[in-house]
Formats: sequence, C-alpha cells, structure tokens
Amino acid sequence: MATTRGKKAGFETLAIHAGQEPDGQTGAVTVPIYQTSTFAQEAVGKNKGYEYARTGNPTRTALEACLAALEDGAWGLAFASGMAATDAIAHLLSSGDHLVMGDDVYGGTYRLFARVFDRMGVALSAVDMREPANVRRAMRTRTRLVWIETPTNPLLKVVDIAAIAEIARRGGALSVADNTFASPYLQNPLVHGADLVLHSTTKYIGGHSDVVGGAVVGRDEELRARLAFVQNAAGGVPGPLDAWLVLRGAKTLAVRMERHSANGQAVAEWLAEHPRVTAVNYPGLPTHPQHELAKRQMKSFGGMLSFELRGGEAAAKRMVARTRIFALAESLGGVESLVEVPLGMTHGSVRGTKLAPPAGLVRLSVGIETVGDLIADLAQAIG
Ligand SMILES: *Cc1c(COP(=O)(O)O)cnc(C)c1O
Repeated sequence: MATTRGKKAGFETLAIHAGQEPDGQTGAVTVPIYQTSTFAQEAVGKNKGYEYARTGNPTRTALEACLAALEDGAWGLAFASGMAATDAIAHLLSSGDHLVMGDDVYGGTYRLFARVFDRMGVALSAVDMREPANVRRAMRTRTRLVWIETPTNPLLKVVDIAAIAEIARRGGALSVADNTFASPYLQNPLVHGADLVLHSTTKYIGGHSDVVGGAVVGRDEELRARLAFVQNAAGGVPGPLDAWLVLRGAKTLAVRMERHSANGQAVAEWLAEHPRVTAVNYPGLPTHPQHELAKRQMKSFGGMLSFELRGGEAAAKRMVARTRIFALAESLGGVESLVEVPLGMTHGSVRGTKLAPPAGLVRLSVGIETVGDLIADLAQAIG
C-alpha cells in the first residue's frame, strides 16, 4: 500500500497508487488489463499466485487493494455487481437466521432478501434505523446480520453507523454498511465500527456510467476468507476490463466528489426556495433532521437528493419528461446528471409495501456539469 515515510498516505494518493505499482516487467504506469482466463503454472501446485481467473486476476487484485485502502480496510473483494456483492454477504447466513435492515434500503437489496433468501429460510425485519432503538428492539437470538444504508435511497435518511454497529456487535450480529451513496471519499463505515462495507462500484467509484460492479471491504481476516470462498464458489466476479474501468474511475473519485457535493448543495438550496417544491431531502441542508449527525459522519454531502412537487405524481412525471441536461434514467453517481421517479423506476420492487417511497418523489443524481446550467434545466422543467 502506498505510504509516505511510514505515515499512511492521503486519500487522493491512495486512490491513484494503492495496489497500482508500475508493472514489474514493462514499467507500465497503469495496471494492465489481464484479459486471460488462466495462468501457466511452473509445476503442480507451484505458480505466481494465480491459477484460474474466477479465483483471481491481477487487474482485479489491484482494484481490491485500492478499494481496501480507500475504505481504511485490510482487504477488499470485487464482484460483478453491487447485487453480486450483496449476494455473497447473504451467503454467510444459514436457514433459520434473521437479519435486520433499514426500511429505506436500495430496492434490489430488499428484493434479494425478501424474495430469494426468504425462500431459503432467512427471516427479515425492516425498521426505521434513524432511531437506533428500533434496531435493538428488532434483534432476535438468531439475528446474524444488520444491514445499514446511509444516506438512504431515495429518502436520504441518515443513520448513525457507530450506534447501530454497536447494537449489532452486542447482539452477536455482523454489521454491514452499504456506502454506495456516500462513496469512500465522504464516509468510511469501518472507522465507525461496521464490520463490512458494501459498494455498488457502478455508481460513484466507477463514476462514468460505463461499468457495473460491486465490492465488499473489511478488516477481519476470517470474514475475508469466508467471503473469498463464496466469491470463488459462486463466481460472481468482474471481468478484467470491468475491474480496470472501476480502478480508473477510483483515481478521480476525490475531485469528482468535491464537485458532486458542491453542485448537490447548490441544487438543494435552490430547490428548497422554489415555490412549487414541497419537500427537499438532502443531508447538507440545515433543515435536514439528521444534519448534525451527517456532519459528524460525512466529509460533505454528495450529489444525491430527492424532492417532492406540488401536484404529486402527475407533476413529477411531467417534470422528469421535460429536463434536457438531466437524463431520465436509473442509476446514479456518474459525471452526468440523472433524474428519476423512484417508485416508477428503481423502486418498483417495493411498490405496495411499507418501504414504498412517495409516488411523487423525484430523485436527482447531480452530476459535475456547470451548476448554473443544471439549475436552469430544473427551472424550465419545473416551470
Ligand atoms: C445500485 C445500488 C446497489 C446495487 O448495485 P448494482 O451494481 O446495480 O448491482 C446497491 N445499493 C445501492 C445503494 C445502490 O445504489
């Protein structure tokens, strides 16, 4: 890992150098894309650390080392998607186990536990984690996992990672924090006591809407061994080109997040003053109910926000069809601004459940374009 005179290097230095020494053979400054499925061995059982590319690939190894450094972890494991990473963690559970999750988590996370692992005998409780006591009350003797997401998607609730990780620890359960919305630049859940951090690297870490990927980072070696076993046994791994794209994205994460946060703050403040806007959810606004907690836990507040318009769902659908710079699309975290109506798009899987967001909620992923252009686009779309 990159260090400066024994002291741990800064985030920006790690993003560019951790796991990414110049290539030993050629001096290539950028980690090569090892587009190979297998590695020649010198003798049976004697190799250079790689055998078959599901088990390990040097491009993926570089990405895993870099992500571990950015999350202040001891190890990282890269997956083919955020959901493949979630699935690997879910495979730590057995029939009869129980997990507690936030009631506002990513729709796909809820779907995996409620519709796939539920069938395999894993019980689920979804609670509002803004109040840590709700987590304590939901714990059972067989609770093995506490799934935290903060800020949440799409309501931007902020959850106290340290308080909930402590409740999980006392109850003998692992705590996992989905850190996709914040990115490792804004928030490091392991530092607050979480056992594992999960990322959809598709979002801010990749950052350019050109790759799907996921990762888990942790510190405990036994957990690494159990998850690496699942990663290899189930095989939800990224190909070398995808690993390389995520690694390339990570290099500029810090500067992108600074601009995402600045633009997000400006757009949130503008929306909060708009006469047709009835609610704005952004942790950087002093009116956000957990603004103080967000300030303690996060470096700044990122580019994700959601809001409601007078006129509800019809007004929301009209507005998102009229934006010109904000593309109407699922996903988030890329350099380009996106807009969506969660209930009709990313969160369709929770429609009709108590996890469903308001039908008229509009979610923005504020990109790094010129902020005046973004605000002008929203102004003409809201009308
Ligand atoms: C997108 C997303 C996921 C799932 O990741 P994929 O890469 O799409 O599989 C999980 N959690 C959050 C918060 C996300 O935004």
